[in-house]
Amino acid sequence: MREAEQKMAALFEALTRIERFALLGRLEHAGGRMYRALAAEENNPRARKALLKAAEDEERNGELLRLMSTSKPDCEKCGNSLAPAEGTACSFQCTLCDDCPRALQLVCPNCEGSLEPRAKLSTHL
Ligand SMILES: [Zn+2]
Ligand SMILES: [Zn+2]
Repeated sequence: MREAEQKMAALFEALTRIERFALLGRLEHAGGRMYRALAAEENNPRARKALLKAAEDEERNGELLRLMSTSKPDCEKCGNSLAPAEGTACSFQCTLCDDCPRALQLVCPNCEGSLEPRAKLSTHL
């Protein structure tokens, strides 16, 4: 079992932060499917309910990570389309072009987090 954890950690090593979010999100969704499969063969009703609840938690985590790793194609404010390394984004991938955030002091208008250059977010850490 220890070996499985090491293999899992190795999967993440060479990835960017955003790629880690994306991979972890996919694993959460896969985990959700496993919980549902385990729930389907569980005879104890309370245990089945607990497993289904766990599946929902995994799916919620997976959705969050998917949101946080999916870059958007254009500025939310002016609608200008952006290349993947252009513009700025917050941790939730709220995305703005290079011009719009100047008036906002680089603070995300949706979540109040800081806006970082997308080129930096997509580079290897
Ligand atoms: Zn803009
Ligand atoms: Zn935001």
